[in-house]
Amino acid sequence: MTAITQAQFEMLISLQNIEFDKIEVQRTLNAVAARVSELENELNAFAEDVEKEKQALQATKALYNDYEEQIQTNDTLITKIEAKRRSVKTEREYQSLIKEEEQLRTRKTQIEDEMIACMDQMETLAETIAAKEKELAQIREQVAADIQSVQEEASTSESRHAELSREWEQMAAGVDGRLLDKFVKVKKQTPDGRALAPVKNAICMACHMNIPPQMYNELQRFDSLKLCPFCFRILYWDNS
Ligand SMILES: [Zn+2]
Repeated sequence: MTAITQAQFEMLISLQNIEFDKIEVQRTLNAVAARVSELENELNAFAEDVEKEKQALQATKALYNDYEEQIQTNDTLITKIEAKRRSVKTEREYQSLIKEEEQLRTRKTQIEDEMIACMDQMETLAETIAAKEKELAQIREQVAADIQSVQEEASTSESRHAELSREWEQMAAGVDGRLLDKFVKVKKQTPDGRALAPVKNAICMACHMNIPPQMYNELQRFDSLKLCPFCFRILYWDNS
């Protein structure tokens, strides 16, 4: 058995406390990383949405231009028919041209209606884009501020983490080597990472089993390393 004093036990308890503080700080750091990526995703999703509206506006503009060209083609055809009409020989030919011209004029009216609809749509889209771009600018500013604030929090946590690591090293330097090895080994084997178990009124507080009376008596002397016969943690007497 490793020779041990109550002071050595107290150092082990401190080491364990430092380790759990470090886990807590690491949890904060992980949460910060998750929050930053969540904020970035929100911003990107909104920016994509604005981009989609812009694409819709471009598509409507292209459609409008297309209709304009169709009107020009239509007008050219009407002019040609009017010219032809002056030189036709038969009534049948004349009527056929009249009918063709009517169809072209009907089509022109349809296209003009479509163009009006396009203009309405372009106006609505332009308004939507302007509103969303304004909102996007606000969100971008808010996200930048949020990210800065969580990163400041992270930087505090990072310093704390480094500080705890240094504290652990300093503390560990004062612990008997074999005892420290045992502590590290037991810690790896326990599911909750707690290598130490206080014993109160002859009960292991980690697994709640009764410690044999002989072992309990020895524990109260703080002079040897004892493992719980049930959960295999390092036991120490808690007389509080
Ligand atoms: Zn136990």
